[in-house]
Amino acid sequence: MSLAQLGLEERELVGLFGYPVEHSLSPVMHNTAFSKLELDYLYLPFEVAPDNLKAAVEGVRGLNLRGVNLTIPHKEAVIPYLDQVSQEAELIGAVNTIKNEAGKLTGYNTDGRGFVRSLKEEGFMPQNKNALIIGAGGAARAVAFQLGLEGVDRLYIANRTFKKAEDLVFDIKEGLVMETVQPLPLKQEKLKEIISGVDLLVDTTPIGMYPESEVEPVIDPELIQSNMVVSDLVYNPVETSLLKAAKDRGAKIVSGLGMLVYQGAISFELWTGKKAPVELMVGTIKNKIESE
Ligand code: NAP
Repeated sequence: MSLAQLGLEERELVGLFGYPVEHSLSPVMHNTAFSKLELDYLYLPFEVAPDNLKAAVEGVRGLNLRGVNLTIPHKEAVIPYLDQVSQEAELIGAVNTIKNEAGKLTGYNTDGRGFVRSLKEEGFMPQNKNALIIGAGGAARAVAFQLGLEGVDRLYIANRTFKKAEDLVFDIKEGLVMETVQPLPLKQEKLKEIISGVDLLVDTTPIGMYPESEVEPVIDPELIQSNMVVSDLVYNPVETSLLKAAKDRGAKIVSGLGMLVYQGAISFELWTGKKAPVELMVGTIKNKIESE
């Protein structure tokens, strides 16, 4: 059978470098979107062991891939192998998307932008608002820097390991020249002290992720106010125990599904120059999650 008969002739290749990659929802999300727009692109998952990352990135040039996404554990380690990185990626210190333009590789971070886009789609504009982020890992970093870049007024970062919250606050103060950012220990009495001024609460911890979905939310539901927007980066289940509690308290909720889809949509747009079919991508991911 010829390549043309297989529909593989003149396809642009993109993909995902991770370790592991088998549970990623990105291939089905992107390939469904390419197909809808009749774009001759194919998205493939590549299992790249940490020791092979440099060779794999050289392969992006060598094989003329249009670009790739990066996931755990490659987001930080990839930076030295790229020709340049975007402002967000440099500040966050992590890259989740590479675009290849005639052998020149640029690294972007679409996680934070994807998160903010999901908020804006729900009508929440972060500028001049106060945000409380719970967690200080990789996802919190992307979200915190992007909220800073969007002009939030105050940013609180509460983490179980207080030192990590302090380190992230230090980096934000340096990187964004922002003074109104404060670390907090993840203690309910400490959260109580600041909660009345919070407009946006973001849980960036894995608490509530399938299959351990029936757990107590990371924050005492009594602290959630009806005027808040509450987001959980966990997207499986789509409505976590935190989001259920927030809804019961009359708050507006934003699922982590939005961040997942919009970070992908921004990568899609960087590679193809076409607007991503976001609704289709949301439906594809929801179906996939519900069928598992
Ligand atoms: P990470 O770098 O490992 O950070 C995990 C954070 O959660 C740390 O701050 C950790 O606190 C905290 N944490 C973990 N278990 C906890 C517990 N039982 N109680 C209190 N705090 C706890 O992970 P990550 O890459 O940031 O990812 C975090 C979550 O975001 C994951 O569930 C991931 O699937 C999700 N995520 C979603 C998207 C999306 O598109 N929706 C994108 C990226 C990530 P310590 O510092 O004390 O350990």
